[in-house]
Amino acid sequence: MSASSLIPTTEPRFSVPDRRGRFGKFGGLYVPETLMTPLLDLAAAYEQARKDPQFQRQFADMLRDYAGRPTGLYFAESLTRHLGGAKVYLKREDMLHTGAHKINNVVGQALLALRMGKKRIIAETGAGQHGTATAAVCARFGLKCVIYMGATDMERQALNVYRMRLMGAEVRGVEAGQRTLKEAVNEAMRDWVTNVRETHYILGTAYGAHPYPMMVRDFHRIISLESRQQIMAAEGRLPGHVVACVGGGSNAIGSFFEYLDEPAVKLVGVEAGGRGIRRGEHAARFAGGRLGVLQGCMTSILMDDEGQIEGTHSVSAGLDYAAVGPEHAYYRERGRIEFAYATDAECLEGFQLLSRTEGIIPALESSHAVAHGCKLAAAGRPGDVVMINLSGRGDKDVWSAARAMGEEIRL
Ligand SMILES: *Cc1c(COP(=O)(O)O)cnc(C)c1O
Repeated sequence: MSASSLIPTTEPRFSVPDRRGRFGKFGGLYVPETLMTPLLDLAAAYEQARKDPQFQRQFADMLRDYAGRPTGLYFAESLTRHLGGAKVYLKREDMLHTGAHKINNVVGQALLALRMGKKRIIAETGAGQHGTATAAVCARFGLKCVIYMGATDMERQALNVYRMRLMGAEVRGVEAGQRTLKEAVNEAMRDWVTNVRETHYILGTAYGAHPYPMMVRDFHRIISLESRQQIMAAEGRLPGHVVACVGGGSNAIGSFFEYLDEPAVKLVGVEAGGRGIRRGEHAARFAGGRLGVLQGCMTSILMDDEGQIEGTHSVSAGLDYAAVGPEHAYYRERGRIEFAYATDAECLEGFQLLSRTEGIIPALESSHAVAHGCKLAAAGRPGDVVMINLSGRGDKDVWSAARAMGEEIRL
């Protein structure tokens, strides 16, 4: 593929989002008035950037030389034999620099910030993966970097806090509310309003107000651009299923995008079923959510009759959020993307199964896709192909996985 086509410059096949950032009734721009101008400026700057071959080239070069693209499409032969059904292929986003797909988006947005003359970057982080990718890219470009993180998450993810600080980022703990991701996003938005002239906000998933869901999707589109060529080279045909875990939805939409107008390819998003679909015990927005507005957009949200956001739970911090990206809500309504969930217990089984059969330790987030993908493969025929997007590696998760399985790692 040519470097100039990495980010779509036009969308001949899809009319979403429209000019107001709407995916059908989902998405949009639900922000305080003070953020309207910065968001519209950002949309205009992005529109220009993606038409500029030099920007496309910088993005392609950074993805190759810094992030480590292309990532492999790996035939999981041992896992396939174990399951005794369809062939399982893994798209290896876990091999990227900083350990997950998140770096694709951070590279794109950092290049955009440089173009806009912004010298200061802010970002929110839950488990610390997006914060770590942002800190790394900011170090590379000499950008000042401030990461907002809930105080509870800082305690749970002390290692990532250290990594971010080592790379020169300032990590600011947020003490409000549940002291987790939702509060960190609020703080980042407050900072952006105050410092917007010199600051760009690198949002970490395909969520929020326009243009973020579209822009983040475009930066991750490379996943399916590569996987489509790779599976054609390996099997001479498209996969029967593509499976990805869904937090905000960025690795999923990136790995689905190039198959959206291939009706024979089933696209399956896997949410976090936690301890089961009971209020406060999970983060499966499509299993228990309703239409509402949270942090910039209209989408499916876990909330009560009064519109109060419900507590969520997942063994994986990266999927533990009360709302889902608006493009997923749109394609679900149109029947193009199906959604399932995996419970904590199923996730931990997937985590162990892939480790034992292939010697690949997946992130707990990705383990949800592994768990559901293995079910599909086991029920499939030998001629079928199930492609699982392995969004990240599990090194960061060994402590919490061990604890969840009743073992304490002592150093
Ligand atoms: C952050 C993260 C996710 C969830 O985010 P999406 O935007 O839904 O992709 C999934 N997997 C890994 C490894 C992550 O770090």
